Amino acid sequence: ASTVPLLAQASAARFPDKIAMEIDRDSITHRQLDTEAASAAGWFAARFPPGTRVVLVGRSSLGFVRCYLGALRAGMIVVLANPAYTPAELEHLVSDSGASLTLSDFAEPVGDPLEPVGGPDDVAILAYTSGTTGRPKGVPLTHRNLLTSIRSAMAAWRWSPDDVLTHALPLFHQHGLSGVHATVIAGSSARLFSKFSDSLVESMRSASVLFAVPTIYARLVSSPDAFSGLRLCVCGSAPLSSALAGRLPRVPLVRYGTTESGLDTSNPVDSPRADTIGIPLPGVHVRLQGEEIQLRGPQVFAGYWGDTDDPFTSDGWFRTGDLGEIVDGHLVIKGRSKELIISGGMNVYPREVELALESHPAVVEAAVAGLPDPQWGEQVTAWVVLREQADLIEHARTVLAPYKVPKQVFEVQSLPRNHMGKIDRKRLASPVRRAAD
Ligand code: ATP
Repeated sequence: ASTVPLLAQASAARFPDKIAMEIDRDSITHRQLDTEAASAAGWFAARFPPGTRVVLVGRSSLGFVRCYLGALRAGMIVVLANPAYTPAELEHLVSDSGASLTLSDFAEPVGDPLEPVGGPDDVAILAYTSGTTGRPKGVPLTHRNLLTSIRSAMAAWRWSPDDVLTHALPLFHQHGLSGVHATVIAGSSARLFSKFSDSLVESMRSASVLFAVPTIYARLVSSPDAFSGLRLCVCGSAPLSSALAGRLPRVPLVRYGTTESGLDTSNPVDSPRADTIGIPLPGVHVRLQGEEIQLRGPQVFAGYWGDTDDPFTSDGWFRTGDLGEIVDGHLVIKGRSKELIISGGMNVYPREVELALESHPAVVEAAVAGLPDPQWGEQVTAWVVLREQADLIEHARTVLAPYKVPKQVFEVQSLPRNHMGKIDRKRLASPVRRAAD
């Protein structure tokens, strides 16, 4: 039992002069980071009691990490905010979390060094779900939740102090932030970027581990040689299509998790497959109830902030809302229950239809959702990015049962995606023009 700041402190004692982090070319050693976090913690503790919520809003920087670790060290609860939020969205976060402080100037908190306060069952962060299926919900995660989650992944991925992680994922989301946790826990190094650019490609050449989402992998297709030195390429947060995996010089290690439950499953390091989300990480219990993936374990949160929604079954399993099946002993994700299309009483999984459309060589990528239909309840509808014109309805008829075939296919220049590359189906409703006929 420990906390994130205690483990960061231990790594600073073991590897004082090693570079802990470089963000957009700004670098800091483990000892400096620990010293600066202790100073930020002193500033926080002089003004706010433990348990106070502090919103950190800004792009990834060393200052952000210093304030993040400093606030945790002072026993505060960090509320993670996307800097792209509108004032109204930020206001919702501040009022919903009851935050006493919103910090966007990360140079400010400087004070007397403070030893870490608090224990493993204190809430460390309040993360808000990205809201792709509804209003963002506050997810309180304790140090124990965060640490058990990342440590099981680190064990499965054979993380060592010699690892050099690189990524360009936002730190206000669990996927990117988990890389910061791994780095300070192991005493390894991380080279991070506040946005995707060629700098990430350059950095990959001398790193050992890459964290990325499918939209970033799509951009890396043109740099196959940058992969050669990496021992591990991790992919998650959104479905990886087999077509994209096939265009990469190697199959990324697909892993699955949610804000509420951290990291839950991963492909085995030695035999990754693009078409599954793998097997449970050590200590994680997974079951399928009907088709729903349900989870249990010390990485799972205890309930939403403000108890807005009860996501647990009567016997205590977390209902992910993701639908899956077991194929060859591996978990395969079929989609999310909220995105399921019910047309004429039949269930249609958008992902299955997307994969069918993407199997046509003219299709770059596809998104599928239901539009209201007076006769069928919902109508299967597709939005596609095309290389060239094609009759996709005809193609879909050859690979899908009739009730799954899109009634309409719209051509678009690009698909609306959120900051993690997830298709934002709510924003699909404004078709540009009808294609494929
Ligand atoms: P909200 O719940 O508000 O809609 P969100 O679910 O998008 O937000 P996250 O917690 O960041 O916010 O996302 C978790 C979801 O991401 C999972 O429930 C799953 O649907 C999806 N996901 C994560 N990893 C993978 C993966 N490897 N393959 C496919 N989907 C994934």
